[in-house]
Amino acid sequence: MAEKMRAMVLSKLGPIETKPLKLTMIDRHQISKPNEVLIKIEACGVCHSQLHAIEGDWQKYGIPPGLPTVPGHEVVGKVVEIGKGVRHFEIGDRAGISPLHGSCMQCQYCKDGKEQLCDLADITGESLMGGYAEYITVSENFATYVPSNIGPEFAAPLFCAGLTAYKAVKASEPAKKKSVGIFGVGGVGHMAIQFAKLEGSRVIGISRSENHLNVARKLGASIMQYDSDQQKFLTRLKSQEGLLDSAIVFAPSDSVAGTAIKAVKKGGTVVIGVFGNIPNFMAADEKTVRGTLIGSMSDMREVVRIAKENELRVISKSFPLEQANEVLLKLKQSEIEARAVLVP
Ligand SMILES: [Zn+2]
Ligand SMILES: [Zn+2]
Repeated sequence: MAEKMRAMVLSKLGPIETKPLKLTMIDRHQISKPNEVLIKIEACGVCHSQLHAIEGDWQKYGIPPGLPTVPGHEVVGKVVEIGKGVRHFEIGDRAGISPLHGSCMQCQYCKDGKEQLCDLADITGESLMGGYAEYITVSENFATYVPSNIGPEFAAPLFCAGLTAYKAVKASEPAKKKSVGIFGVGGVGHMAIQFAKLEGSRVIGISRSENHLNVARKLGASIMQYDSDQQKFLTRLKSQEGLLDSAIVFAPSDSVAGTAIKAVKKGGTVVIGVFGNIPNFMAADEKTVRGTLIGSMSDMREVVRIAKENELRVISKSFPLEQANEVLLKLKQSEIEARAVLVP
């Protein structure tokens, strides 16, 4: 009989208030290919996208693709078993997994090092292979080594929030003294502020929530409270900071994206780092609007390197795995300062 493990399983979509995740004993994953490693999970980040998927907001994008699933795609743990062909990991190493759990490795995207765009990409947490559990397997090509001086609760948020933030900041073409507005300061935004500051940019954190504005201030950003009255917000921005050189949107709202486009100078760049549609795009303003989706495996290694060398401040709070529903509810109510992680 297969060994079992604890997992928070989603069998039916619904409001998080109804506690749709159920603690269940499921078969423990086993190494099935020579290049796979088995990881005993130490921490898994709780990402806003899980809330959207669980509550059914993203059914229009085909997420989740099927049920049941074990959510969770910011996974860090210890390698406890390796396949016969594994070359880059040893038992006892700490390793992390991003939302990208695998890809075909043969298409043009994969050959160009943009595995996240592969049409056959396999997403962590959209099957039973997710991080809200005790164990996970992955091909060693999609695991990233984590140095032992970064604790699991601080390393886990690098694997979706950190990666997404890094890629979006890079896409915004940051430069010394140029201003960048970060719309949405939470798990992802608080990392983006730090990556942009490392580039020497003048960073403005923008959020509705006082709690999140405080986080932005602590990380050395200027702050602006968001206002759904677009005119009011833009007038205040112009007088306090001036129009922005670039903007990055992490708030999953089309109207925020529309405001961000108006908040940049003509010729400026707007990066949309979440699922969404784009209102207000005026060709005559020569602006660039760019989408980003997580990042590649080489981006992921870069994020871990930067975190190790610059002491990024990952703001993280740990909760037991069994409290996944309660933690997601806190996230929904903006009660999580930046990132929560589940510890099995
Ligand atoms: Zn995520
Ligand atoms: Zn591919």
